[in-house]
Amino acid sequence: MPQSNAILPPMRIAVIGLGNMGQPMAACLTRAGYRVAGFDLSSDARAKFSAAGGSAAANVADAVSGAAAVITLLPDGKIVRAAVEGFMQHLAPGAVVIDMSSSAPIGTKALGEKMIAAGFAFIDAPVSGGVKRAIDGTLAIMAGGDNATIDRAEPVLKAMGKSVFRTGPLGSGHAAKALNNYVSAAGLAATVEAVAIGGRFGIDPNTLVDVFNASTGRNNSTEHKIKQFVIPESFTSGFSLALMAKDIRTADELAHQIGVVAPLADKVTALWDGALEALGNSADHTEIGRYLTVKP
Ligand code: NAD
Repeated sequence: MPQSNAILPPMRIAVIGLGNMGQPMAACLTRAGYRVAGFDLSSDARAKFSAAGGSAAANVADAVSGAAAVITLLPDGKIVRAAVEGFMQHLAPGAVVIDMSSSAPIGTKALGEKMIAAGFAFIDAPVSGGVKRAIDGTLAIMAGGDNATIDRAEPVLKAMGKSVFRTGPLGSGHAAKALNNYVSAAGLAATVEAVAIGGRFGIDPNTLVDVFNASTGRNNSTEHKIKQFVIPESFTSGFSLALMAKDIRTADELAHQIGVVAPLADKVTALWDGALEALGNSADHTEIGRYLTVKP
C-alpha cells in the first residue's frame, strides 16, 4: 500500500535530460499514467522526445513548475548540481528531486542536504541495466536518502525499475552504482583480454564465451556484451565509454576520499581513462574491445 503522500499517477513529473536513458525512462512514466514533461538542453533530444509522443517543455522552468517529482538524468553530478541550482526557484513546495544520473556520492550528499534545508525533498536513485532495460522498465534502482522520501517516490521508481534497493543515507545509491560499474568494467576488460589471448592461441572467441557462460568466468559481459557488440564489432550498447570511465573514476575517487586502499581500482581507472583518451568521447564503452585488442 503506497503511503498517503506518495507520488501517484496522474501526478506531474519532470524529466531533465532526454538522452539514451532519459527518453525511455520518461516513456515508462507516461505508460504508468503520470503526466510527464521532458526537458533537454539539446534541441535534437527535445525533437526526438516529441517525435516519440513525449511532451517536451521549451525551457527547464516550464518543465519543473508544478511537478511533484523532478528526475535528473544528466551526464554527471557537477552538471546535476548546476541544473538543480538553476531550476530550484521554480520548484513546487515540497517537490521531490530524484537524481537518477550516476553522480559522485560526496557531491550528492552536499547537494541533497542543501535542497532539504531549502524545504525540498531529495534522494539519489541511479540505475543499472542499460538502454534495453530502461525501455522495458526493468532497471535495477539503488535508492539513497531518508526512508520517508523513498516511500513517497517508490511508485515513481517502480514504474521504471523491477527492483528498488534501499542502500542507506544520501549518496549511498550513487556509491553503490559507481562500485557496480567498477566491477562491471573490470569484468568486461578481463573478458576482452581473455578472448584476445584465447584467439591468438587458436580458440574461437564464440566458443570461449560459451565456455565462460557455462563456467565460473560467467559475468554480465560474457552474457550480454562480447557476442552482441564486441565480436561483431557493432559497438552499439548505447552506454558511452566516457560515462563508464567516469563511473570507475568515481568509485576510485571515493576509495581515496575515504581512505580505502584499492590498487585494482587504481589500475582499472587508468586503463579506462587511457581508452577514453585514445578513442574519444563519442566511443561506446564496448569499444574497450577494440582498444585492448589493437594495443601492442
Ligand atoms: P546521454 O549523454 O545519452 O544523455 C544525457 C543528456 O543530458 C543529453 O541529451 C544532454 O543533452 C542532456 N543534458 C546535459 N546537460 C544538461 C542540462 N544542464 N540540462 C538539460 N539537459 C542536459 O547519457 P545517458 O546514457 O542517457 O546517461 C544519463 C545518466 O545515466 C548518466 O549519468 C549515465 O552515467 C547514467 N547511466 C547510463 C546508462 C546507459 O546505459 N546509457 C546506464 C545506467 C546509468
